[in-house]
Amino acid sequence: MKPEKNKDPKDSQVYLIGSGIASLASATYLIKDAKLPGENIHILEQDDIAGGACDGAGNTEEGYVVRGGRMHEEHYVCYWDLLSNIPSYDDPNVSVTDESFEFNSRFVSHAQARLLKDGKKIDVSTYGLSLSDQADLVKLTFISEYFLDNKRIEDWFSQGFFETNFWHIWTTMFAFQKWSSVAEMRRYMKRFIHMVDGLHQLGGVMRTKYNQYHSVILPMQKYLQDKGVHFDMNTQVTDIDFNLSVDKKTATVLHVVNQEGIEDEIVIGKNDYVFMTNGSITESTDNGSWTKAPILKEKSTSGAWMLWEKIAKKDNVFGNPAVFSNNIDLQKWYSFTATLKDTTFHDYMENFTGNVDGTGGLVTMTDSNWLMSIVVARQPHFPDQPKDIKIFWGYGLYPDRKGNYIKKKMSDCTGEEILEELWYHLKVQDLMKPIVESGKVINCIPVAMPFVDSLFMPRSLGDRPDVLPKGTTNFAFLGQFAEVPKDCVFTVEYSVRCAQMAVYGLFETEKEVLPVYDSIHQVEYLIAGMKALAR
Ligand SMILES: Cc1cc2nc3c(=O)[nH]c(=O)nc-3n(C[C@H](O)[C@H](O)[C@H](O)COP(=O)(O)OP(=O)(O)OC[C@H]3O[C@@H](n4cnc5c(N)ncnc54)[C@H](O)[C@@H]3O)c2cc1C
Repeated sequence: MKPEKNKDPKDSQVYLIGSGIASLASATYLIKDAKLPGENIHILEQDDIAGGACDGAGNTEEGYVVRGGRMHEEHYVCYWDLLSNIPSYDDPNVSVTDESFEFNSRFVSHAQARLLKDGKKIDVSTYGLSLSDQADLVKLTFISEYFLDNKRIEDWFSQGFFETNFWHIWTTMFAFQKWSSVAEMRRYMKRFIHMVDGLHQLGGVMRTKYNQYHSVILPMQKYLQDKGVHFDMNTQVTDIDFNLSVDKKTATVLHVVNQEGIEDEIVIGKNDYVFMTNGSITESTDNGSWTKAPILKEKSTSGAWMLWEKIAKKDNVFGNPAVFSNNIDLQKWYSFTATLKDTTFHDYMENFTGNVDGTGGLVTMTDSNWLMSIVVARQPHFPDQPKDIKIFWGYGLYPDRKGNYIKKKMSDCTGEEILEELWYHLKVQDLMKPIVESGKVINCIPVAMPFVDSLFMPRSLGDRPDVLPKGTTNFAFLGQFAEVPKDCVFTVEYSVRCAQMAVYGLFETEKEVLPVYDSIHQVEYLIAGMKALAR
């Protein structure tokens, strides 16, 4: 039974748990399409800053840090639809969408040094797949998801597959691991088949002008605050009471710890609603420094996972958080952001790769024990970044392994040690030594992310609750751990589509959720994709 839609929401209060893009998108659609007054919307965020995973902070003295950078593509239909309503950071007359498309028309992704070995470029014009690898990929693309419950990628493919260029490109572009859910890989194959032909050059990948905190989150926050939306920061929701029966689930009370650290309750009125971002891939992250490795925190420190666990015990339509969060060793990886007051490294990378900054994307060192990749985004990556300051980001998918040069696990390494390992792989040790010694590397901030790959854990039907769980009257799940049929987790598009599903499902808007881009049913893409696999 579908929930009854609210036709006249002017007296409704809506409480959004979390301030990631899923909540910000929900608030935007509530105002724009459901005609809810902005002042009736309350964003409850445990942190002191909005944006969740889409972060970006720092300065020229201490260095900048982003936990990650987002690749987008043209057919992120919900995301670009959302951002077409939001004035951009630099120009209130230009939307974030228009700014991004204009930016990408000038800086087109065409990686010339996607994979390296022994410091040299690998020829990636062939994906290196055997006939049986190709057959396995095609079979996976066309099998029903129903048969893939709890299966890992390594259960599907033979060992040789994991040595191919295709796998190296795939694993480092999307952060899939061998042990990740093969059902999720199938969804990616279907959804992104139009990109398979150009995958070796990151063809079709779009970026925002700056990091996503400045290009996306801040403009959205300003837009919403101008409409009267309340941002209650440092406010953690610790439990939710429900009135539960077999066919009706109604949220009644939010238990919170408020800004003063005091336990409080928010009573959910008859016409009120609660949207909850359940789980989060950037929970419990920790920043290290030039001289300190970050700490790998435990689940008990995470407000998002603790809250979902609590409410999941109350009803079986609320999903199964343990599947995604109980094995940090399979879910974690580490990223780092380097800030330099010197152009030597960036100049070297431009010459070596043949890509000006912002056009190359990921450069992966396939022989790195940590499976290290770096990205040189278009500079400036922060609006206040001076011309003489340069930034790059990188990550390692295997932080438990000892480095090839630094004989320590990546997880135990300081920012300085991570860069030493990188210089070794790129064979720029002599070039960079004097730069480091003269103090021109301002910082390298490593970040431990215990849950970053949790959304790729093998799972079965029902582990992710529906956005509108069966019987809900006033409650929705949002984000990467709510189920959106056919869509791909680890994308902002997924979180924004949840927002559309929640708002259009609970309120009368006369709007339909935009369908997931149907790449696989477009014959020319399918043929080009299949041909590319055989290359
Ligand atoms: C390293 C990295 C690289 C990425 N690369 C890409 C990419 O290339 N392309 C792409 O499309 N996407 C990418 N993503 C994924 C994308 O950024 C996320 O999936 C998306 O931003 C998630 O948004 P969300 O709103 O669903 O959840 P989140 O951003 O996780 O937001 C959840 C928010 O809820 C808050 N919260 C949680 N529990 C509570 C509570 N109990 N009380 C109060 N507040 C609470 C959290 O503090 C957080 O602010 C990447 C992410 C990372 C980390």
